[in-house]
Amino acid sequence: MRRATIFIGIVLIATSALAEDLVLVNGTVIDGTLKARFQGNVRVRNGKIAEIGIFKPAAGETVLDVKGLIVAPGFIDLHNHSENAIEKNLGAISQITQGITTAVLGSDGSGPYAVEEFMLPFDEKPPALNIATFVGHGTVRHQIMGADYKRAATADEMNRMGQLVESAMREGAFGLSSRLDREPGSYGTTEELIALAKVMARYGGTYITHVRDEGAKVIDSIKEAIEIGRAAKVPVQIASIKLGADTVWGKTPQVLAEIDRARMLGVDVAADVYPYTEANLNEKDVRSFSQHAWVMIASDGGLGVERPGSAGAFPRVLGQYVREQKVLTLERAIRKMTGLPASRIGLKERGVLAKGASADIVVFDPLQIRDNSTPQDPFAVSVGMRYVFVNGTMVLKDGQPTGERPGRALR
Ligand SMILES: [Zn+2]
Repeated sequence: MRRATIFIGIVLIATSALAEDLVLVNGTVIDGTLKARFQGNVRVRNGKIAEIGIFKPAAGETVLDVKGLIVAPGFIDLHNHSENAIEKNLGAISQITQGITTAVLGSDGSGPYAVEEFMLPFDEKPPALNIATFVGHGTVRHQIMGADYKRAATADEMNRMGQLVESAMREGAFGLSSRLDREPGSYGTTEELIALAKVMARYGGTYITHVRDEGAKVIDSIKEAIEIGRAAKVPVQIASIKLGADTVWGKTPQVLAEIDRARMLGVDVAADVYPYTEANLNEKDVRSFSQHAWVMIASDGGLGVERPGSAGAFPRVLGQYVREQKVLTLERAIRKMTGLPASRIGLKERGVLAKGASADIVVFDPLQIRDNSTPQDPFAVSVGMRYVFVNGTMVLKDGQPTGERPGRALR
C-alpha cells in the first residue's frame, strides 16, 4: 500500500513538471497593457511568469531564443462556441494555432446552468487551453418554462430561473449570457433579464448579450443592453457587435456614441467584434468597431463551428488589420485580445505579461501571421504562431502542436 502511495506521488510530481522552466530571450515583448513594446526576456517557472524585462538567464537555465518574434499574453476569446465539440477535441488545434489560451464558452444564452457537471470532465481530462463558461439565459428559461416558453415569464418563473442562475454562479460561471434575436431568448423581457442579472450581480459576473435586433432597431437594442447593466449594476458585454442589415450600414458612430454616453454615465459597457464582413457588415464598419477603445476581438466561433472566425479570427486581425491595413497598432490589437477581455470577466492573473501572472504566452512572427480559413474552408488553420504556452506548458512548438493538455477549467 505504502509503496503504491509513494509511486502515485512521484507520478503527480512528474506530471506537473511538464510545465517548462525556461527563459524566452531576445523577444519583442508586448505585455497586454497598451505599454509600448520593448526588447527583453521572460522567465517562466512553475507555470508562472517569474521575471520579465532585461536580465541574464542563470547558468544552466533552458533558453529559447525568440529574436524577431513578438512575445505577448495568450489570447482570451470571450465569445467562443467550442462548448459542444471540445470534449471530443481536447487538442483544440484550430484554437491554439490562433494563440487562444483561454476560451470563454456558453455565449448567446446557451451556457450550462449545471456548471460543475459541465466542468468536471475537463478537470479529469484537460484540454490544451483553459476554458471558462457563462450560464445561459436560454438554458435556464428552457429548464423552467419547457415547451410553454412563447410568452413573458411569471414572477414565480423568474424567481426559479434566478435560482438556477445563482447556483451556476456559485459553481463558477463568469456571468450570464443571452441571445435576444432568436428563440427562446427573444421571449425574455427586459424586466426578466434585469431580474436575472441582479441575481448574477451578487457573485460579480458580467452580462454578455447578443442584442435583440442588429438591423433597423439596433440602437434601441444597444440601449436595452445598457439599461439592463444600469438597472442591475453589472458590466455589460455586447457580443459580436454588428450592423446586420445594409439599411443600417455606416451607423457605427451612432452605435459607438451610445456606448460612450453610457460609460460617461457610469455604466460599464463594452463590446466585442467578429473581424469579418460575412455576418452582413461592411468592411468600413468592422474597422470602425475594431478601433474603438472598448471594443475587443472575439471569434464567435470555435471547434465544430463552420465559419472562418473559428480558426482565424485573431491571426486575421494581426495580419489584415495590423500589418496590411494598419487599422490598429500591434500594441492596441494585443490589448483587445488579452488584457481587455481578461478585465471584462475579472481574470486577474491572465491577459497580461507580469511577474506572478499565469504563464499563458504566445510567441508569433508579426510578418508571417495570417488566417487561412474561408467560408468554404472554415477549419484551415492559421500560420505564423510559433510557440504557445498554457499555464507554463508548451502546447505549440515551432508552429506544431505538442499534444500537451495543460488547460484548466476555470471557475
Ligand atoms: Zn455567438
